[in-house]
Amino acid sequence: MAKDELEVFYSPIGGAGQIGMNLYLYGYKLPNKETNWIMVDCGIGFTDDYYPGVDIMVPDISFLNNNKNKLLAIILTHSHEDHYGAVSSIINDKIDVPIYCTRFTSELLKEKISEDYTENYLDIKILKDNATFNIGKFKCNLINVAHSIPEPNAINITIADMNIIHTADWKIDDKPVINRKTDLEKLKKIGQKRCDILVCDSTNILRKETSITESKVALNLKKAIKDIKGMAIVTTFSSNVSRLISIINAAHSNKRQVVLSGRSIKRFVKVAKFCGYIDKDIFFVDEKDISKKSRKDVLLICTGSQGEPNAALSKIANGRNNIIQLAKDDTVIFSSKTIPGNESSIGFLKNKIIEYGAGIIDDSMQDIHTTGHPSRPEVEKLYNLLKPNTLIPMHGELFHLAEHIKVAKENNIKNPIFAKNGDLIRLYPGSPTLWDQSEPNFFLRDGDVFITPTDRALKDRRRLQDSGIVFVNLVLDKNLILYVDPIVEMFGIPNKMDDIDNVLEFIEDKIDDALDSLPKAKKSDDDYMIGYIEKAIRNHLFTLWGKKPLIRVCLTFV
Ligand SMILES: [Zn+2]
Ligand SMILES: [Zn+2]
Repeated sequence: MAKDELEVFYSPIGGAGQIGMNLYLYGYKLPNKETNWIMVDCGIGFTDDYYPGVDIMVPDISFLNNNKNKLLAIILTHSHEDHYGAVSSIINDKIDVPIYCTRFTSELLKEKISEDYTENYLDIKILKDNATFNIGKFKCNLINVAHSIPEPNAINITIADMNIIHTADWKIDDKPVINRKTDLEKLKKIGQKRCDILVCDSTNILRKETSITESKVALNLKKAIKDIKGMAIVTTFSSNVSRLISIINAAHSNKRQVVLSGRSIKRFVKVAKFCGYIDKDIFFVDEKDISKKSRKDVLLICTGSQGEPNAALSKIANGRNNIIQLAKDDTVIFSSKTIPGNESSIGFLKNKIIEYGAGIIDDSMQDIHTTGHPSRPEVEKLYNLLKPNTLIPMHGELFHLAEHIKVAKENNIKNPIFAKNGDLIRLYPGSPTLWDQSEPNFFLRDGDVFITPTDRALKDRRRLQDSGIVFVNLVLDKNLILYVDPIVEMFGIPNKMDDIDNVLEFIEDKIDDALDSLPKAKKSDDDYMIGYIEKAIRNHLFTLWGKKPLIRVCLTFV
């Protein structure tokens, strides 16, 4: 078979147009055959207020179940939720393919899946550092990178003499605490051979300054903790094991014992101990024994740096933890950044902490956090090493991707391609180019079920959230005269409108008006009558209040 009969594609399903829900597909196709895909990462996204009652989104990959497409395998670059968190929903889809990942990711995946499923079988292929493996016609080779979690990897994907580098999440850190450094030598060698396509992290492309190293953060944490008189409380991202180690070391060097609070921190510490990243012999004081210790001898590491209401720190600050209370002289250190969208919940949490007289240190006051993503100079350094022909930005909002395209052009990269979720880029043969576009689909996790973004539940919730609901129960006789007083129940309606006699009175009036003015022919049409009365009440409430709540009328005839 001639080589140029092979077509190679790239398609971001999530992650190219939002920070989160990373899922990137690489595929190849022979004439009259299905397209064979590998999936790089399978993450969840976090929703905003537009989807009330829902906070997690997962990519829709149902199209991989049709006969034109075949999924060969999933490769997980690292175990951040936005890269591996949606694997359990794929299991729901009955997509049964091998999952390639490192040991740390595999252990977390097994822990996570066992929380949702009592029995399952995952075909996990554990990858070592720099592993080379073949999936169909794809040859894959892992490249060590630095990031904010153990064992992150970039992937060198080779097919049809083409060399693709998929960076996943990375940064350059000369002094990481436990994590590996980015393997610049290996990247340079690939560049010297030839890099055709670079698919690159865009999260911090707008930042012009390189970030500080994890070791510097460790040093600063040690100093900050030294000055605390009462209990030291540090919140951070549970997955940042380097940071957890830095905090534990800072506690011990300040003669404090460590207490862990929050399910995900405990899960990460368990897996990090199992994989040898945290010393198995490190002793943690049990949460329930905290009161036996003097406050100045304790450092508490807890979840909740983003103000999540059910995380450990929020529970403590809101007096919902029966064992741990905040006091004057305590200091809460936010060794984290504020993820856009979480400003108000973090602000609320900080206010609560201040009410106890406790102090706060965050990353705007001291260098106690560093990012896991490359800023512009680091990306330019990578360009320099790889000298790619084509650059495709990923892992970013659309404005990050657009800026990344600009940076690529300024660095004389010949063929920067703007690819957003749902786009299909043909990488081979010929020059890589946009080939097709489709609407990206995703599901939202609502309790234990998955719903589409257009589900009526969301439309109803937005409406209820904005203006509440009025239920009216009417019992009419055969002459359409009210047989008993209407029963009215209101939810989400202001107290001022709560004068039930008044409301009943005007509703009765409106019902009478509505019944009187109903066209004769329609009086036997229940649905028409209900719609007519609902509209009359809604309009009347609008004149009184200026808002239109949902109205639900139930008609009963006697
Ligand atoms: Zn990550
Ligand atoms: Zn990420």
